[in-house]
Amino acid sequence: MTASADVIVAGGGPAGSATAAALARAGCRVVLFEREVFPRRKPCGDYVNPGAAAALDRLGVRDAVVRSGARPVGGMHVAGPRGDAATLWFADRPGWSLPRRVLDAILLAEAARAGVRVYEGATVAAVARQGPRMTVAVQFRGRGGAEAHTAALVVGADGLRSAVARAAGIEGASRRGRYTVGSYVAGLAPLGGAGGLDVGEIHLRPDRYCGVAYLPGGIANVTLALGRAVIQGWRGKVREGYWRELLAFPGLCDRLGRARQAEAVAGAGPLAYRRRRCVADGIMLVGDAATYIDPLTGQGVYLALRGAELAVPTALRALDGAGPRRAALAAYERRRDREFAGVLMISRVLQRLAFHPALAGRALRRLAARPDLGTALIAAVGNAAEPRSVLRPGFVARALGVL
Ligand SMILES: Cc1cc2nc3c(=O)[nH]c(=O)nc-3n(C[C@H](O)[C@H](O)[C@H](O)COP(=O)(O)OP(=O)(O)OC[C@H]3O[C@@H](n4cnc5c(N)ncnc54)[C@H](O)[C@@H]3O)c2cc1C
Repeated sequence: MTASADVIVAGGGPAGSATAAALARAGCRVVLFEREVFPRRKPCGDYVNPGAAAALDRLGVRDAVVRSGARPVGGMHVAGPRGDAATLWFADRPGWSLPRRVLDAILLAEAARAGVRVYEGATVAAVARQGPRMTVAVQFRGRGGAEAHTAALVVGADGLRSAVARAAGIEGASRRGRYTVGSYVAGLAPLGGAGGLDVGEIHLRPDRYCGVAYLPGGIANVTLALGRAVIQGWRGKVREGYWRELLAFPGLCDRLGRARQAEAVAGAGPLAYRRRRCVADGIMLVGDAATYIDPLTGQGVYLALRGAELAVPTALRALDGAGPRRAALAAYERRRDREFAGVLMISRVLQRLAFHPALAGRALRRLAARPDLGTALIAAVGNAAEPRSVLRPGFVARALGVL
């Protein structure tokens, strides 16, 4: 079978569903192929920051998110390796915590409602250019052989190991990233925040960290990020290694007495790389397929949804005009570079700071004493304020207590 469309989207995570929905609403014929059958588990901290929450509102899925039982997140509690801690409060809107299997199913359903033809259990296996159109080979689960589908434009929203990026020859500059090991845990009591809102938690040790998000039903997502050598040292005993690591975090060990694992441990990695380009003739990359950053700062869903918002106007202009050749799509690349440079910079700066015990301790003591600085910082990290508001020497000096 050969089917044709204006746009084929590979991947039905936040980036793919948001891009597909917006293109379909603008009148394009869009087909989306998703490898898994939803709802599916996705290794993630399950935290949606305020910037991403605003993007969900713009997509029109706020009611569905609220109905799903998502819990508002009022801030972030950060615990350092030497016992210092600060809770940073969002000033305006909260974020959400909800399982990605729920969020992603909401977004994929929204894409289908917008008119996207959605195929699940459908893996994009190859992408090739044939004249002015792109041909995509799709392998359907349980069926032999691949089917060919054609479109003017292919959007690669197929995550960390994007097959579309590979086909376009856009390889990521590989960086040494951490690995993550996460699970769902029952019986871990939330720290409790102001006005009944939860706070997310980040617990730091010199070379690793643990994120906690409280979910509906008394379950918490507890995810570790650590180096490959640590996991290799577990010698296959992942469950035991996971719990041993959790108990070594000073801010967690006393609270884990009644906790029990509610789901199997899931791993991901290595994480973190950056692709130098995210367009080619007939191809655009969005979400993790375009850029990936370590999840420490919880910005991945924001980058996926905002990236979709940046991609769509360029895609529409190119489809209406001379066609989606690289030169026409380059405007998207430039917009991303402009808008995301500060976001990526914050992530890099905080990675350095977080794993420097003396500096992290100093900053946490200062932020605990000056909640206004904490609120300014978390607004920028939470993509609710311009990154440059905190990437100024004056702010950094105040946050470190130098000024
Ligand atoms: C452990 C961990 C914790 C994280 N925690 C957070 C957090 O708390 N908050 C946050 O904002 N970000 C977090 N992130 C980052 C966040 O998960 C990603 O940035 C986000 O999922 C990117 O969305 P996406 O749509 O680009 O990719 P994905 O969500 O990965 O979606 C890609 C989709 O493509 C499908 N796919 C893959 N290959 C193919 C193919 N060949 N054909 C068809 N379909 C395909 C996959 O099945 C998947 O559904 C975390 C990441 C990790 C690994």
